[in-house]
Amino acid sequence: MADFALTREQSLLVEEVRALVQEKIAPAARELDCAGDERFDFTLAELLARVNLLTPTVPQEYGGRGLDYFTTALVLEELSTACAGLAAVVTANIHAASPIILAGTPEQKNTYLPDLTQASPHLAAFALTEKSAGSDIGAMESLAVAEGEDWLVNGAKDYVINGGVASFVTLFVATNPRNVRGSMLCLVVPQDTPGLKVGAVRHKMGIRYAQTVQLLFENLRLAKEHAIGIPGSAYLLLMQTFDRGRSLAGAIGVGIARAAFEYALQYSKERYQFGRPIYVNQGVSFALAELATRIEAARMLVWKACWLIDRELDYTMASSMAKLAGSRVAVEAAAAAMEICGGEGYLQGHPVERYLRDARVLPLIEGTDNVQKAVIASLL
Ligand SMILES: Cc1cc2nc3c(=O)[nH]c(=O)nc-3n(C[C@H](O)[C@H](O)[C@H](O)COP(=O)(O)OP(=O)(O)OC[C@H]3O[C@@H](n4cnc5c(N)ncnc54)[C@H](O)[C@@H]3O)c2cc1C
Repeated sequence: MADFALTREQSLLVEEVRALVQEKIAPAARELDCAGDERFDFTLAELLARVNLLTPTVPQEYGGRGLDYFTTALVLEELSTACAGLAAVVTANIHAASPIILAGTPEQKNTYLPDLTQASPHLAAFALTEKSAGSDIGAMESLAVAEGEDWLVNGAKDYVINGGVASFVTLFVATNPRNVRGSMLCLVVPQDTPGLKVGAVRHKMGIRYAQTVQLLFENLRLAKEHAIGIPGSAYLLLMQTFDRGRSLAGAIGVGIARAAFEYALQYSKERYQFGRPIYVNQGVSFALAELATRIEAARMLVWKACWLIDRELDYTMASSMAKLAGSRVAVEAAAAAMEICGGEGYLQGHPVERYLRDARVLPLIEGTDNVQKAVIASLL
């Protein structure tokens, strides 16, 4: 960990993604944000699918790139400089695939993972949150009841990224409402399963490229082979998925922060007031110096968390710290960039206006900032 240099493969991959971002993703991102989130546009997902980066963590034996978390974080930082919504789509795929990669049977792996590596984009969704169960997962009401060789599922999930366009949904439900954590079940639900219904599209302030919907499960019948992991292990599987995914949410924050910082830095050197660039005022340049430092600090936390994950070392606290730092710095950098850009930055369609809207979701998802603090505090 004392060596901060990227490997040659990682540097080449970052260059590859940066070129894709500059040439194809950034030019389309603003228009897709303006188009809103009612209809999912596959254009950007397809660009990533063509280079097998839509679910970069799928192991090579199932056709994926098999990237570790460190390298995946590098990719997500690059994507988030242009389109945090696209990074959220990729993260949803990673979350949906994670329980299958960690605990799926060979048959489940062979059935679901290769699709996520196809050149034609295949999306997956991770469905956990409910109306009364946000931070408090124990309040979950969606229920699976055993009926012969099947599970019969009823309930509703909310805020599900990719839920309306997913090939499969990785779903968490309870089998005993009085003991949600102990009885939790993780099910893989193919898109065409009768009883799976897509509800309302949630219209959001930011990350609009990531279409987010309600999902309804009405007498949905699934053979027991759709359960992932050994009975009683689903809560652990959920926590493992979160603990790993939080580092990646931190990387998205670093990417948004970097984009906002770079925009503001350039603007401050080109914008003249009182006959000189506004950058020569310490009120502006010191704010940028602060940001540059905080972005680097957040990136180092992301890298450390991923490094621990990739070595299967104890990563829970580091991952929560990475998520907390990444979401904080994204909001701070976007707000500071808006300040530096003056009135112009407040106009609809301006890049920093979008960065601020995109950044604001990060303290809310994958466990709110308070949830990260509770995790960290519990381990101090
Ligand atoms: C754009 C978007 C995409 C999402 N994508 C997905 C997805 O793909 N799949 C999915 O399952 N979910 C998804 N979510 C849901 C997200 O994970 C939840 O919104 C989040 O877990 C918070 O739950 P909540 O909204 O019910 O807030 P609540 O849990 O009601 O929290 C509200 C406030 O109370 C605070 N709070 C609650 N409990 C405590 C406590 N004990 N101590 C201190 N403070 C507390 C919280 O920090 C927060 O500030 C998404 C949400 C959004 C907005």
